[in-house]
Amino acid sequence: MFQDIAPKKISLEAWSERFDHLTFEEIRQFTYYHNDSWGRYLQPPASFLVYGARQLKRLQFDNSLAALRMWGFVFNESERLFRAKQIGKRIIATMGDLGAVPVIIAAFPDCIPFYPECIWWMPFFNESTVLLDTSSELGTPEAACFSRAALAAFYKRAYFPKPDKIFATTGATCDDYSCTMQSIEHLGHDITWIEAPFRRLMKDSNDPGEYVDAVHGYTYPKRFEGYLIKEYRRIWNIMADLTGTNAEHLLGKSIHKANTLRTLVRNITSLAYDAAVMPFPALELMTIEFGNLYWYADIEEWTAILTMIYETIGKRVAHNVGVQSPDAVPIAWINPTADPYLLNFVEDLGLRVCATEYVIRQALVEIDETLDPFRALARSFMQASLIGSTRERIQSIKESIDQGKIKGVLITNMLGGSHCAMETRIMEKMIDVVPVLSLDIPPPPGVTEQIKNRVEAFAESLR
Ligand code: SF4
Repeated sequence: MFQDIAPKKISLEAWSERFDHLTFEEIRQFTYYHNDSWGRYLQPPASFLVYGARQLKRLQFDNSLAALRMWGFVFNESERLFRAKQIGKRIIATMGDLGAVPVIIAAFPDCIPFYPECIWWMPFFNESTVLLDTSSELGTPEAACFSRAALAAFYKRAYFPKPDKIFATTGATCDDYSCTMQSIEHLGHDITWIEAPFRRLMKDSNDPGEYVDAVHGYTYPKRFEGYLIKEYRRIWNIMADLTGTNAEHLLGKSIHKANTLRTLVRNITSLAYDAAVMPFPALELMTIEFGNLYWYADIEEWTAILTMIYETIGKRVAHNVGVQSPDAVPIAWINPTADPYLLNFVEDLGLRVCATEYVIRQALVEIDETLDPFRALARSFMQASLIGSTRERIQSIKESIDQGKIKGVLITNMLGGSHCAMETRIMEKMIDVVPVLSLDIPPPPGVTEQIKNRVEAFAESLR
């Protein structure tokens, strides 16, 4: 019988030994799509190394059953999507918006949304440039974000099933990924384009219409919401035609489920960030934050996993135990790191991630369930990280610095990532009261000795 022990980050080998303590009954209780004959996913992390995730032998993982369950589920996603297709579910690719569209898709029975761009971690987990090289051959050059791996994944047809429908958001979204999406369309995929408006910061005397107050004092013209509502209704109608179902009350239910998860993630991160001792590793916490995008293709199981993680963290906080020394220095992290290893490495140097801006703020906010569901989704999307000014993006990080919660800021750039090239120097200037280190993450094998030296010097100066 498996027992959680003192929290610690452990290697693949150590996890394999711990896995032996699990009984068959324990293993079989965790399934995706509620299917207990082929939906089991609890596996020792070493099995994913065998499937090609070579980086796992360098990584360290939390030693709780909740974390094991999370990793088994996350690494099982590709199999899950193919299974879904096999049993008649519709696979819907939602690209570029990182927030609202999956909530609409999930309102239709047996429709599974997913973000192909999230495959950008695979070259690093697999320590392989196959996807990136193939994308280069297909026309997206090296000077573009690693999310271009999605182009090769569509081309190779091996990483996820052919989607039954593709929605892609452009406009005030990511330039790099817009180009990748267009290249995917050129492969012959039929894409329905959605446009997101730019969130204007200031009131404009030439635009006397109504304005909406959002968090951090943002204000934007309400007509932008009207524009998004039309776009979302267009998606709804296309999905209704595709599925032959048109039950708008299910959108409210889908929003409620998404909100349940968003609340859970906020509770998990605030519990972890405010604890005296860091109770859970940063790599796992980043994976949890990104789970808000599309719930790794099974919202019910992902909710159950996060509930278990929340309980595990709660017990650790209550006993004042965790995975880092109590004197670890709190930092903020801006932009997700393409190389997961960096999160392990930073923690090993005595830095503790206590605030993040991973370009997905729109997936973290609560959706207002008292509003019309389409307006509520539009309003939640108007919080998006990449559709407003740099000042807005880093506002919450600056507030944490002002409150004395953050002693340094790490910015990880994607080589070629358009927002990185545009924003990093501006952010460095705006965050002028604590040390800031910005790094360009190179392609696999990723973090170099030179990068390690720079992070070591940064950690030393903070300590
Ligand atoms: S450049 Fe940034 S926003 Fe665009 S796909 Fe890459 S990580 Fe995402």
